[in-house]
Amino acid sequence: MHNTEHKRYFSQELLDWYEINKRDLPWRRHRDPYYIWVSEIMLQQTRVDTVIPYFHRFIERFPTIQSLADAPEDDVLKCWEGLGYYSRARNLQAAARQVTEQYDGVMPSGKDEVSGLKGIGPYTSGAIRSIAFNIPAAAVDGNVMRVLSRYFLIEEDIMKVKTRTKMEELVLTLVPDGRASDFTQALMELGALICTPKSPKCLVCPVMEHCSARLEGKEESLPIKTKAKPPRPEYRLTAIVEGTGVHEGKILIRKRPAAGLLAGMWELPHVIVPADGGSVPAAMPEETAMVGLRDALLEEGIPVQPIGHVMDAEHTFSHIQWNMGVYRCKWQDVPPAALQAAESAAAYETGEENFRWIHVQDMERYAFPNVFIRILKVYFSS
Ligand code: SF4
Repeated sequence: MHNTEHKRYFSQELLDWYEINKRDLPWRRHRDPYYIWVSEIMLQQTRVDTVIPYFHRFIERFPTIQSLADAPEDDVLKCWEGLGYYSRARNLQAAARQVTEQYDGVMPSGKDEVSGLKGIGPYTSGAIRSIAFNIPAAAVDGNVMRVLSRYFLIEEDIMKVKTRTKMEELVLTLVPDGRASDFTQALMELGALICTPKSPKCLVCPVMEHCSARLEGKEESLPIKTKAKPPRPEYRLTAIVEGTGVHEGKILIRKRPAAGLLAGMWELPHVIVPADGGSVPAAMPEETAMVGLRDALLEEGIPVQPIGHVMDAEHTFSHIQWNMGVYRCKWQDVPPAALQAAESAAAYETGEENFRWIHVQDMERYAFPNVFIRILKVYFSS
């Protein structure tokens, strides 16, 4: 088949299939660029089924770009709680503020303008511009690269920038006139529903007749993808600090710094343990772990007496894996006058508002990373 025909067949069959098979997703009911933008950010590293309830909640709470820009960051993080990769939420809000300040609250459609917004890379820019504005623009992610690698038999490493650039150029040659919005969504939909990473459903695929990988029996071995480095393990001792005196019945939480991993979220105090020869908390003698935790927290101005091991937990980020040993501790040695005067322990230690004493019912008011929610649920239900 001639190259041009091969491409035309692909685009036409794909669009026809999409018309009939597209899923009814909430962000597809409008072409509001804000909805498309929020959905695309949420869908990064997250499945559609997971995203749908978050999307509804987010749009209900922040119905416009302006309302997102005006909201306190804590509210945005709380609404994002459980979705992970929280820098997405912070960048989304920062970009909403950019749109408000630079474009009167109206999402721009130009390539440079959209790409200049915080948290928007080439993929998201292509998705917003094509889906919301029907502009021919390439939105190439792993999903799309898988489909293209297979149909066009591109045997190049999709982790390489060069391959991605080539695919972006290829997509632009595939978009039928006036159909950029549907084409982008159709390509994504085929990758999500039919041309899946494992066991692609070639027999019901609209482009199977001329799919090069299928014809050569290579659909399972493409795309070519070098393995990402496994996440680096970190060992962390974590404290559930129980209050005393006026804080009896409460536990201590602290806010993470405004920049870096899980920035601005709330957590249980925890300390990193040197990974010396595999001394993970679970394998570490309880006594050693508790003394280590007590001494390290004291250095951070958190005086506690560890009481006993509660559980082990783990959480994997893209580049780090936290292995956590969780210990129940009692707050210690606080001058009663200072403690009573301060609603937060930080006012006692640092004068800053980055610590709180909370009851179980207060958990709702703070945004925690998933791993701490799991730990707190186990603790409060025991
Ligand atoms: S025929 Fe199979 S490998 Fe080719 S695009 Fe369709 S699902 Fe993917």
